[in-house]
Amino acid sequence: MNTATVRSVVEQPWAQNVGFEQLCAADRPSHRPTTIGRRASQGDLLTLRRFGWSVSDDTSLNGCGRRIRKGDVGTPGEILKRTVMCRRKWLCPTCGHREAVVQASKWGRELRHWSAGGGSLALLTLTQTHCADDTLSDLWDRADHGWTRLTAGSGWKRVRDTYGLSRYLRVLEVVHHHLSGWNPHVHAVLYLSNPATASQLADLKHTLATRFIDGLQERGGSAAFSGQDLRLITAGTEGAVASYCFKGTTPYCSRDGSRSPIKILADIDATGEGLPLWQEFTGTAYRRTQLSRSHGEWTR
Ligand SMILES: [Zn+2]
Repeated sequence: MNTATVRSVVEQPWAQNVGFEQLCAADRPSHRPTTIGRRASQGDLLTLRRFGWSVSDDTSLNGCGRRIRKGDVGTPGEILKRTVMCRRKWLCPTCGHREAVVQASKWGRELRHWSAGGGSLALLTLTQTHCADDTLSDLWDRADHGWTRLTAGSGWKRVRDTYGLSRYLRVLEVVHHHLSGWNPHVHAVLYLSNPATASQLADLKHTLATRFIDGLQERGGSAAFSGQDLRLITAGTEGAVASYCFKGTTPYCSRDGSRSPIKILADIDATGEGLPLWQEFTGTAYRRTQLSRSHGEWTR
């Protein structure tokens, strides 16, 4: 059994490969294009989308990219055309990439706005112990339940009041490694009303990790504290952090071999191997939520 390491998130090879450490420390100009925008070729995505149709029974995928008439026959819109998008961001290479770019841009702007208004931001990453024998469905259920447990009840309100936590943005990301299996994990940006000291940040991390791990254990899972991470987001890196959080629906692969689902699809196209993995993902991802955020604002 190959169990995932319990090193800090930023010490893990996949995190180092995507520049997790630099992401939070570098002073990048916010007007640069996102890494997502620079990385993917539209031609490759269109080719991959066509391949995806050939290995799927989902008819809505097959219609993605069709040009249809905008208006009824006999109306002014008759001569106008629009493109139909399937919007299956987990399963469709072009819609997944488009969604990643759109969301990263939108949330990058919002994060910059929060920083400019004097608030602080922190990036929380929550992982769980996993191995190649675990099904994606079980691990995904546990990650979702862990987050639900973290954000439930009067204890959650106390956390918000104590640490000046005003909002959150949570993104669920799935990667797979050939040795340690599926790894659904959580990235969440926390909006803090006031600058947090190192001591407050450590306390907050411990509190959030405890609540998340309690949720995992309720569903038969587990995690080590060293597998969780909370760090302040440096002003000027908000756009890069947003791109990082939303990369999960793009053909992403770290140097250690952790692959996003769309990258798995691309590798099947290239090698002909790995179809059962893709089928497990498509059977599990149906109607799963990638993005959630708090409603309203608790403090400011
Ligand atoms: Zn699509």
